[in-house]
Amino acid sequence: MRIILLGAPGAGKGTAAVKIAAKYGAAHISTGDLLRKNIKEGTELGKKAKEFVDNGHLVPDELVIALVKDSVGKIESFLFDGFPRTTEQAKAVDTFTAIDKVINLQIDEALLMSRITGRRICKDCAAVYHVDLLNGKDKCSLCGGKLCQRADDNEATVKSRLDVYKKQTAPLIDYYKQQNKLIDIDAGREAAAVFADVEKILG
Ligand code: AMP
Repeated sequence: MRIILLGAPGAGKGTAAVKIAAKYGAAHISTGDLLRKNIKEGTELGKKAKEFVDNGHLVPDELVIALVKDSVGKIESFLFDGFPRTTEQAKAVDTFTAIDKVINLQIDEALLMSRITGRRICKDCAAVYHVDLLNGKDKCSLCGGKLCQRADDNEATVKSRLDVYKKQTAPLIDYYKQQNKLIDIDAGREAAAVFADVEKILG
């Protein structure tokens, strides 16, 4: 299984990806998670990426492509979450692997801001929650890790990330339509309903 999850920030790629990886045994490769890990650990890549991530801009293609190639290595079954995000990255993917399906999580832009600014993630396992459903809880129900808000989940940065999505990532919808790989899902619903559609697609 070689899948790409496409969608705007806040569409629910991370939530769906965790479930897909658990059910189908595919490796979950999230460039956002990988970049945040590098930033936290202060690696060379992390130092180069930090300013872009903090400002909601895209990290340069060559850095992200190298990171993903390295993470994929010889893995045969994987799921890309948050990658590719530019046509350049999509073309690079075509040079080192053959993608089976691209699942496009479609969502009304009006829903995204509150989804993202209310998002909380586990510091340890990166599980995703929404503050409205936590009832004051601040620990991950999966691993007990502390829940926190991502530094780039504030209103100003989210605006910039949505802008970047529209200009640089949305054109990939047509790119994969032309390759006959694109499948749309309505992601404006609860995570369980979205995942039920994903299961129909993946079998
Ligand atoms: P995400 O966790 O997918 O929302 O990504 C968080 C941030 O990491 C983005 O706003 C970008 O700054 C950076 N990033 C993640 N994936 C990519 C990518 N494929 N290309 C460039 N930058 C990325």
